[in-house]
Amino acid sequence: MKGWTILAAALAWLMPAAAPAQEPQTTYIHAGRLLADPATGRVLTNHTIAVRGGRIVELRDGFVGEGDVVDLSDSFVLPGLIDSHVHICHENGPDDALRRVRQTPADLAIDGVHYARITLEAGFTIVADVGEENDAIFALRNGIARGRIVGPRILAAGNALSPHGGPGDPAGYRDDVGHVLRRPSLCSGADDCRRVTRETIHRGADLIKIVATGSVLSDTAQGLGQVFTDEEMRAIVETAHALGRRVTAHGHEAGAINAFLRAGGDSIEHGTNLDAESIRLFRANNAWLVPTLLAGDTVTRWGNDPNSGFSAAIREKALLVGPRMIDSTRRAHAGGVRIAFGTDSSVSRHGENAREFGLLVQAGLTPLEAIQAATVNAADHLGIADQAGTIAAGRAADIVAVRGDPLADVRVLERVSFVMRDGRIYRR
Ligand SMILES: [Zn+2]
Repeated sequence: MKGWTILAAALAWLMPAAAPAQEPQTTYIHAGRLLADPATGRVLTNHTIAVRGGRIVELRDGFVGEGDVVDLSDSFVLPGLIDSHVHICHENGPDDALRRVRQTPADLAIDGVHYARITLEAGFTIVADVGEENDAIFALRNGIARGRIVGPRILAAGNALSPHGGPGDPAGYRDDVGHVLRRPSLCSGADDCRRVTRETIHRGADLIKIVATGSVLSDTAQGLGQVFTDEEMRAIVETAHALGRRVTAHGHEAGAINAFLRAGGDSIEHGTNLDAESIRLFRANNAWLVPTLLAGDTVTRWGNDPNSGFSAAIREKALLVGPRMIDSTRRAHAGGVRIAFGTDSSVSRHGENAREFGLLVQAGLTPLEAIQAATVNAADHLGIADQAGTIAAGRAADIVAVRGDPLADVRVLERVSFVMRDGRIYRR
């Protein structure tokens, strides 16, 4: 016993006394104009946002606090922007076929480090990556969450689910090469799709993305119609929901979009061709539309340029899709469909995500509605409304600012002057 007492005394002498717990520092942001809750549309003037430990702790009338003060008294301050459709580890181009053969998941992750930084600096504090190689995107997401890398918070779907022979199956290669490039997210038949859904979630997916129709950038002439059977889509949705994950679908043609919504799917990406039944189903299911007008705008330009380097099959589909997207979004919006902001950045260049705002306004949204799509709506769509989308006590301190008034000219959001994510400043 005595030996233990001596050992304990020696250890006590060796160990430094515990330092008194340090109060995290408070930062006071002086906001000249403040859209704290885009849902209300109310713009406050001369308010202080107190931030501590990565969270918003208080909103106060007037400019108060001293010490660590951020002077945005000449700026318009709003919640960090959310893009619910990116592929942050690559950018598409006419050399995609070669890139897919050459790039390892490590290459993708390292490119992702670069694109993540410029996306955050453009004011996007949260993104959903809806289709990227598991090893690359999960490592990038986790590295950012651990504070090793600068970037937006990422919610990641991992590899998108596609049927064999569907748009997720590598096309345009000799058979043996195409087989090597296949990802583990191809499935055929309801049971197989249940297995792949479970495996994708087990591997680390925050949400499930499926490719419900043909895709513009898949190098086949198979069109843009439904590729999964109704039964396969039901199996995926039921399995994902049972495991607490939402399911979003890439969808161009109305028939497939309607089948996915009938299967209980949570949201549609692109929504190029919507009919009256689609709009009815969106509303009945409280589902979200993520229009990705910027992708439509980008591929239309490729489609019209015979020297773009893209194959004739791709250019033909691009010209079918691009011009219809704005019209479909206009009809959906007029019909009361809930819209969440997403760009499909990778088709367009990373860091230019905010160009989507101007296109949403062209499709009939007011500037305030476009801002709601990228804040409160996207947060709700992604299941994080209790953490993000508004500037309020208890929320993550994700805050951006612009010069000028985005409610008068939404395109000022293409030039953010201040970015804070989880209480840390990345642009000032
Ligand atoms: Zn996409």
